[in-house]
Amino acid sequence: MQGFSTRAIHAGQVPDPTTGAVTTSIHTSSTYAQDGVGGTRGGYEYSRSANPTRTVLQDQLAALEGGRHAHAFGSGMGATDTLLRILLGPGDHLVIPHDAYGGTFRLVDKVLSGFGVEHTPVDLADHDALRAALRPTTKVVWCETPTNPLLGIADIAALAGVAHSAGALLVVDNTFASPYLQTPLALGADVVVHSTTKYVGGHSDVVGGALVTDDDALSEQIAFVQNSTGSVPGPFDAWLTLRGAKTLAVRMERHCDNAERVAEMLSAHPAVASVLYPGLPGHPGHEVAVKQMRRFGGMVSFLAAGGRDAALRICAGTRLFTLAESLGGVESLIEHPGEMTHASTAGSMLEVPDSLVRLSVGIEDGDDLLDDLRAALDAVR
Ligand SMILES: *Cc1c(COP(=O)(O)O)cnc(C)c1O
Repeated sequence: MQGFSTRAIHAGQVPDPTTGAVTTSIHTSSTYAQDGVGGTRGGYEYSRSANPTRTVLQDQLAALEGGRHAHAFGSGMGATDTLLRILLGPGDHLVIPHDAYGGTFRLVDKVLSGFGVEHTPVDLADHDALRAALRPTTKVVWCETPTNPLLGIADIAALAGVAHSAGALLVVDNTFASPYLQTPLALGADVVVHSTTKYVGGHSDVVGGALVTDDDALSEQIAFVQNSTGSVPGPFDAWLTLRGAKTLAVRMERHCDNAERVAEMLSAHPAVASVLYPGLPGHPGHEVAVKQMRRFGGMVSFLAAGGRDAALRICAGTRLFTLAESLGGVESLIEHPGEMTHASTAGSMLEVPDSLVRLSVGIEDGDDLLDDLRAALDAVR
């Protein structure tokens, strides 16, 4: 197999046969001429069902995850919703991580519950707790690793074993790691989910999602339900995501370089009670992370020693780290999960500590990022 960056830049991407254009064209057409009824050129008939720019993105994403089929969506939640509609019906049950992405929890808890789908939040690092949560009706074990925002690590290969022995599928939301750092299909996962809004797109300029699987029948169902429900990316969105993903490897290396330095600095700072980063040897998931990840990613969370008040002041005190939701772009972001991205988990089992601060460490110069954070931390000592 070719290397990661070669696949990112070439998979599915060939110069245009008529003009020689080297980059993929943005095909804005909603409909396609047919040579006689049913005589499509390459299967394109209407851009909800398929679009040539989207096809190229899908081929690229499949190559990056090492999967046979990829489907690009209008958002990560659109991808998640389509997948769960296929895998779960009334009376079925799924296991979700106890610190799942807030939007995934909201979809399961507030929307799918209305259709009779049941769920149990579980700490996926605790395999006994997982086994105890499994029911005869469990169809899906949903995994995120590293988790958002607590940066917990789940052992994908071990979870695949537990899920499969119970007759359930293992779905891995690979948004935080990106396919550069971790490829769950190779570890036994059945489906990979992405919010391509984050590292894959990488520039905070497009919302998108993806599903990747080796399962031919499931891939057909995904295409059918996506076409039936309509959560498709526009051609310009597909193109932006495709362009962003070409540089994923070089961006991720820099994200990791900077995050490692940030985690080290935070660990030694008196305004920080503890640092959550899987690259730190003291992290409870460090060994599993070493086994299944290339490096440890660009997300770092920490607990402020001064509690909620200090956490809010640190979030307001940085200048380079922008106070904003989302993650995975070239620019560094800071946020307070309890009152921002994870506010919807308040009062539930998924509630996050109010002293928690989450960083999406960007690819600016590391020295500047350290100076900025240090100044904000020094101000609350
Ligand atoms: C952002 C995110 C999602 C949702 O994706 P959208 O593109 O915002 O719909 C799902 N999972 C994780 C881990 C995320 O960070």
